[in-house]
Amino acid sequence: MSNGTTRREFLGSLAAFSLLPLEQERPDLILYNGNIWTVNDKEPRAQAVAIAGDRFLAVGSDSDVLNVASPASKKIDLGGKTVTPGFIDAHSHPAEAGLMHLRMVDCDLRSISAIQAALRERAAKTPPGEWVLGFKYDDTKTEEGRPLTVADLDAAVPDHPVHIEHRGGHTVYANSVGFRKAGIDEKTLDPPGGKIDHDPATGKLSGRVAESANAFFEKVIPHNFTRDDHREGVKLISKMLARTGITSATEAQGTPTDLRAYQDARDSGDLLYRAYCFINFHYLDAMIAAGTRTGLGDEWVRIGAIKLVCDGSISERTARLSAPYEGRPNDYGILVMTEEELYTHGRKAHLAGWQIGTHANGDVGIDTTLRVYERLQKESPRRDSRFRLEHCTVVNDGLIARIKALGAIPTPFSTYVYYHGEKMRYYGAERLNHMFALRSFLDAGIRPTQASDYPPGEFIPMMALQSEVTRTDTKGNVWGPKQRITVEEAIRVGTLNGAYASYEENLKGSIEAGKLADLVVLGRDPLKEDTSTLIKIPIERTMVGGKWSFEA
Ligand SMILES: [Zn+2]
Repeated sequence: MSNGTTRREFLGSLAAFSLLPLEQERPDLILYNGNIWTVNDKEPRAQAVAIAGDRFLAVGSDSDVLNVASPASKKIDLGGKTVTPGFIDAHSHPAEAGLMHLRMVDCDLRSISAIQAALRERAAKTPPGEWVLGFKYDDTKTEEGRPLTVADLDAAVPDHPVHIEHRGGHTVYANSVGFRKAGIDEKTLDPPGGKIDHDPATGKLSGRVAESANAFFEKVIPHNFTRDDHREGVKLISKMLARTGITSATEAQGTPTDLRAYQDARDSGDLLYRAYCFINFHYLDAMIAAGTRTGLGDEWVRIGAIKLVCDGSISERTARLSAPYEGRPNDYGILVMTEEELYTHGRKAHLAGWQIGTHANGDVGIDTTLRVYERLQKESPRRDSRFRLEHCTVVNDGLIARIKALGAIPTPFSTYVYYHGEKMRYYGAERLNHMFALRSFLDAGIRPTQASDYPPGEFIPMMALQSEVTRTDTKGNVWGPKQRITVEEAIRVGTLNGAYASYEENLKGSIEAGKLADLVVLGRDPLKEDTSTLIKIPIERTMVGGKWSFEA
C-alpha cells in the first residue's frame, strides 16, 4: 500500500471485507514479521495479520497490515516464525475421551504387568462392587506379544468387576467378576454383529468380546456421570488439544449429552476448540422431532452429521475386506449394519436435511456405504449433500471414481501409519498402497480431511504431518509409499479441507480477512525441517477466535 492509498481503499480491496462494518473496525491485535501460510490460493504467503474481535481484519505484508493499526492495537513480533491456520481434526471423540481421562485407567502402557499394576492401584481406591474401568489398551503394544486374558485381569483385580476398552473402541476385555455381572458365561451365544471369544483349547471365556457383544456390559456398567463431569471432560480435553495446535474437532459419535456438555463448557469459558457434534443415529428421531438438523448452532458448537456405522475397525483388524487379512485366510472382517439398515436410517436423515457420516473402513464397507449414498441421491437428489465416509481406509480406483462422482468426503486416519505401524503387516505391502489414500484422493480432486479418531489414534497434528508425508512408522518401516503427499498438501488437508467437511469453508480453515482468527504459531518451518522430524516441531502458541488457547 503506497502512502497515497487510504486505509479505506486498502480494506476495500479485500473481498471479504465488504461484509464488515469498516468504519468502526480497528484491530485489537496485529501479528507481524511472520512466515504465514494462509492456505488461500490467492495469497499463499503473508507476513502479518490484523485481528478485530474474533476475526481476521487484514492479511498481507508487514507494511500494509501495520498501516491499519490504531494506537490501541497490540502488536506482537512473530520473529519470522511460521504460522498456519488452526488444525481441524475432522473425526475424533474428544468429549468422550475427556470423560475417560477423568475417570478411567489409561491403559496405554507397554507391558501387561504395567497394566495390571495400574488396575490394582485403581481397585485399591474403588469401593467394593464398583467397576474398575480402563481404556486405550492396545494388544499390539505390550512387550508380552499376546493379548490380555481373564487370568491376567483376575490376578490383578480379583474382587471388583473390570472392563477395559481396546484403543480401537471395538473390542473390550473383562475379568471373571465382570463377566458374571454382565450375565455372560461359556454358553452365552454371540449376539448379531458381535462375538464372545473362547479359548480354543478349553472352550472357556478368553476375556475378549467384540462389537455388539459389549452391550452385555453397557447394560450393567452405570453411567453415573454428572452434568458437571461432562463439562469437566470437555475442559480437560480442550487443554490437551490446544497444546497441539487443534482449534476445531468433530465429535464423531456425539449425543444430546455431548451437545449440552459443549454448551456448558462454552458458557463457563472452558471450551477451547470449535465442536462439530455428530449425533449417533439412535437419537435421529428425537433430533428430527425437535426440529434440528445439521448446521444448527454457531461457530463454537454446531450440530454435525448423523452417524451410522457400516463395518469394523482397522487397528483391531475387523474392517470388512474383499480379500482376507494377511495370514488369516478365512478372516474378511465384519459388517456391523446391513445395507438395508443403513439405507433405512440414512433415508430418514437425508430427507430431513441431515448430512450423513458413515463409518466405513474396508473396501467392502465403503462399497456398501457408497451404494446406499448413491441410491439416496438418486431417489431424492439434494444439492451439496456432502456425504461423509468416516475413515474410508481401503480403497481402489473404482471406489475413488464413485467418491468423486458423488462429491463425498473421506476422513482417513492421519496418524495410523506412524503410530500403528505394527498393525500394518496384517494388511500387507500391496494393500497399504491403497490405504489412507491421500495421494489418490487429492489426484482425483477429492477433499480428504485430517482425522485422528482419538482415542484410537493420536491427535497430534505434527504427527499427522509426518505420517502423511513420509508414510513411515516409528521403527522406520515404510507403509504404502505411493500415497505420500507434500507438506503443503498435508497442511491444507488438516485445515481448509476440514472446514469444508463441516460446511464451514467460508468461516474458517484459512487465514483470510473476514474469517475466524484461528491459527497456530510453529517453533520451526515445516518446509525447512527434515521430514523424519516433523513431529518434533514445537507448537508455540494456538489461537482460537482471536484469543490464545495455548502459549508455551
Ligand atoms: Zn471414530
